[in-house]
Amino acid sequence: TVASSPSADLFEVHASTTPVPDDERAQHLAAPRFGTVFTDHMSRISFSQERGWHSRRVEPYGPLQLAPATSVLHYGQEIFEGLKAYRHADGSVWTFRPQANAARFARSAHRLALPELPEEDFLASIEALVRADAAWVPTGEETSLYLRPFMYASESFLGVRPSLEAEYLVIASPVGPYFSGGVRPVAIWVDQEFHRAGAGGTGAAKCGGNYAASLLPQQRAYDKGFEQVCFLDASTNTYLEELGGMNIFVVHADGSVVTPPVSGSILEGVTRSSILQLLTDAGHEVSQRQVTLAELRAGLADASITEVFACGTAAVITPIGRLASDDFDLTVADGAAGPVTTRTRAELTDIQYGRATDRHGWLHRL
Ligand code: PMP
Repeated sequence: TVASSPSADLFEVHASTTPVPDDERAQHLAAPRFGTVFTDHMSRISFSQERGWHSRRVEPYGPLQLAPATSVLHYGQEIFEGLKAYRHADGSVWTFRPQANAARFARSAHRLALPELPEEDFLASIEALVRADAAWVPTGEETSLYLRPFMYASESFLGVRPSLEAEYLVIASPVGPYFSGGVRPVAIWVDQEFHRAGAGGTGAAKCGGNYAASLLPQQRAYDKGFEQVCFLDASTNTYLEELGGMNIFVVHADGSVVTPPVSGSILEGVTRSSILQLLTDAGHEVSQRQVTLAELRAGLADASITEVFACGTAAVITPIGRLASDDFDLTVADGAAGPVTTRTRAELTDIQYGRATDRHGWLHRL
């Protein structure tokens, strides 16, 4: 039976007998490279149809054993999340709106026909891991411990139906400032050929398949000298959707701000919803509505659109300095970071790092 309100204490800790030595860890923390080095432990919960969620534990970080017939390897039944643990000046460690990640994880599970993990288990798995690996939360400016919860279909069975077994894990990796040497505007390729998601598809879920679909267009854009791709809607190839891993915002000269609605084919970003709140607090007129590529091009050409930025957990807010495709190439905000972009980024990071009042109760202490 599944306990009704499991806490981190319910996780059985199997401590690593070969943790990374202190001096080596200090080196990683001084210059972390995103997603390359992992902490000593991982959290884990198993699911089976008979037992439900069971065997909550923290165990040494290490390879997984998979039968070659494991369902996820064939049909891609997999979901994940991404959030960060931030160290404040007083040494305490916090996550930012982890309940929103838990809720999104449950929605993703539902869409991928995976078992939904209760919010308490999601939060407790993070707490148990960060407790075990607290020494891995870096202290430098704009550094954090990136947390990657994920779940995969683990039944060894080749039939095409939802797996009866699943594994849920959380791994963690120290990360440095996304922009070393200051926030820098990026160049975006607007893809008019490929799409990442369509109506009724899995675009609103954080599942591996969406990212697999984005890799070829992303690689092509990279080869042309662009950092990221902006995708358009698959039905009409007309409306802006999002980037491969970030939502998009458009700022107008009159101070109004627009972002595409969460219509089912884009991911509902936690950063996106936080920015909507901060912009509203700051007195901006904010709307969630469809934005056509034609409208964006015209607005940049006549300067009625003054800033465009992307947002997500990894980079917080990334100014967009250039938007281009086969038939246009436009500079945004003179290729610099605009004032709304810069101010909103500072407001959000000030809350995350405990430098400003958490007036919306977004922080969760670990
Ligand atoms: N869109 C996509 C496709 C993403 O992968 C992400 C990153 N999770 C986002 C948007 C931004 O979401 P969040 O602000 O929750 O990180």
